[in-house]
Amino acid sequence: MREFNWTCPYCSSHQTVVTAKYDVSTVRFDLGDTVDGKCIGVQIVSIGCSNSTCKNVTITLSYGTLKESQFNDDYRINEKILDLPIKPESRARSLPNFIPAPIAQDYLEACRISKLSPKASATLSRRCLQGMIRDFCGIREKSLNLEINELKKQFNEGQAPRGVSEESFEAIEAIRKIGNIGAHMEKDINVIVDIDPDEAELLLSLVENLFDDWYIERQRRQDRLARVTASAEAKEAARRVPPPNQE
Ligand SMILES: [Zn+2]
Repeated sequence: MREFNWTCPYCSSHQTVVTAKYDVSTVRFDLGDTVDGKCIGVQIVSIGCSNSTCKNVTITLSYGTLKESQFNDDYRINEKILDLPIKPESRARSLPNFIPAPIAQDYLEACRISKLSPKASATLSRRCLQGMIRDFCGIREKSLNLEINELKKQFNEGQAPRGVSEESFEAIEAIRKIGNIGAHMEKDINVIVDIDPDEAELLLSLVENLFDDWYIERQRRQDRLARVTASAEAKEAARRVPPPNQE
């Protein structure tokens, strides 16, 4: 196997995957002639994280046609018919606990069902977006659309909360312009909108961007400020200690 670069979905550490941390197992199905062909089966790829504080196992399963491997008398997947993440079960990022629990839960659920039901996923993502505008920006109106308009007004007047940047605004506006999502922003967020899987993924990326730009960035600023304050206080305390007697 050639070594390759990979990012662990559990600890986000970038690493080079070596043979000892990579496994491919293939099972051929003995079913004769099928609609998918004669030589079919599943392949399970597993990777062990080499970060010693993580060591999580990531597993992906693929179903499809198989061909004989050039290296041994085993089989390898040829054309994938189905590709499923087994562990972790979705693309969901692990979120810090300062993101409000109801928003985090909607996000996790939206990730879990994005492939099975883009409509339901998009509905949850819109609820996340509304939850963030209400919690982080303190804006509460009758619909998500009105809330975005209000945020836009505050932003243009320089009154939006810190963290609501030009970029985060452009991202919200870009999503609002997408066909069905945009058309339904005006309705209640719980109305289920017909949407394709790509649009559901886009909404999830927007929600993730806002986690970063709003909550995580605010926490970093607060941590930095706390460090600066602590170090200034330590210096002040040291200054107050009288110098040793130099008689
Ligand atoms: Zn890891």
